[in-house]
Amino acid sequence: MHDSLSESRLAKNEVVFRQANEQVQKFMQAQVTDSKEKENKLHFYCECSNTDCRERIILTPTQYGRLHKNSSQFVMKPGHSVAEVERVIRSTSKYEVVEKYQTPPRSASELQPE
Ligand SMILES: [Zn+2]
Repeated sequence: MHDSLSESRLAKNEVVFRQANEQVQKFMQAQVTDSKEKENKLHFYCECSNTDCRERIILTPTQYGRLHKNSSQFVMKPGHSVAEVERVIRSTSKYEVVEKYQTPPRSASELQPE
């Protein structure tokens, strides 16, 4: 054990949270047919690389979907980004959108241990 914060581990954690969030988003989109209800705010997981982080970000499914059009982008609480592996491309008082220097795979299972 020399560096527990290796880049692959950081990326894996973020992919896991994103998959959890995508399940929430899909579930909501399947449930909701009324366009007004579609804008209900949901509590998405913070997608930062801290495995202990349990913060939530409040977004509508539409906002979330727009943020995640690009698979190298993640959404997290302001101040949770790690400058070594990602850069902040949009910052609001409620959340930050970061872009990874290396595009992570769509699925966590595709990540190989170093
Ligand atoms: Zn976080």
